[in-house]
Amino acid sequence: MYSIGPLTVAPGERAEGLIPVGTSSYGVELGIPLIVVNGIEDGPVLCVDAGVHGDEYDGQEAIRRVLADIDPATLRGTLVGIPCMNTPAFEAAARTSGLDYLNLNRIFPGDADGSYSLRLAATFVEQVVPAIDALVDLHTGGTFGEIAPLVILQGGYEELATDLALAAGHELVWKGGKWGGTVRHPTLAAGKPAITIEAGGGTYRESNVDLHIDSIRNIMRQLKMTDGEAKLRDSYTATSGTFARSAAGGFFLGHAEPGETCKEGDLIAHIVDHYGNTLEEVTAPQDGIVLWVRRIRTVRPGDEVVIFGEVLEEIRP
Ligand SMILES: [Zn+2]
Repeated sequence: MYSIGPLTVAPGERAEGLIPVGTSSYGVELGIPLIVVNGIEDGPVLCVDAGVHGDEYDGQEAIRRVLADIDPATLRGTLVGIPCMNTPAFEAAARTSGLDYLNLNRIFPGDADGSYSLRLAATFVEQVVPAIDALVDLHTGGTFGEIAPLVILQGGYEELATDLALAAGHELVWKGGKWGGTVRHPTLAAGKPAITIEAGGGTYRESNVDLHIDSIRNIMRQLKMTDGEAKLRDSYTATSGTFARSAAGGFFLGHAEPGETCKEGDLIAHIVDHYGNTLEEVTAPQDGIVLWVRRIRTVRPGDEVVIFGEVLEEIRP
């Protein structure tokens, strides 16, 4: 038997249900929706989540499709899908929660006595982390921008999570992030590999759903949960990630696409006023790769306009 939250799932069975977090003002139970498929044979428990940011859709659909397609009779171990972690942010069609306006991906491990997002994070840490062996967290560039397909490998946890990161299948490995509080952090702190996979933006695309499905299935092969050899690249490119913020507000014009290679000083974007006068130019701080580019044209002072990656090393599996 496999147990997570309120669900108990026998070998060969599937189940779905909600881990309760709180009740909405209109009396409906809110929580973390789970889809679980428990294989006939023993193996690891892989959890795949999406919707930590409510305006990132491709991963949510990818999780439902992978879970619907898995045959528990040929699965070794257990696949836990969390198609939409942050339902109040999804309802608001926004990066942050419509209930308390917090960014769930900066507040883990949360607080069981805090506002809804803090309780949600604390519930995940208390009930999901102990019940899984590995975590894959799916994101996009969000409504405001588009990101190159890449995997985020938390710096300092290379030994624990590199195998999982490479099996995601993307050439770019962002050795990230200086910030804390993501869903990866409490999972890694518990000694379990955790990665974030990024692709696309706020506009749902079937091609990005397929990218996420390919990553999940390859990771399952690598963990020996399904038959077949995991496909690995001959080489991967590890990068840093630096957020460029504009001082000027205005209209954003980009000159580089996510994933594009740049030389130091190359013009990546510029910001104009309503008359067309250039207010600010964003140039590559060094040779490297453009990871994320703003798509929303409105720029306010201090907004993120580009995430730029400096190439750190080549990784050969
Ligand atoms: Zn995100």
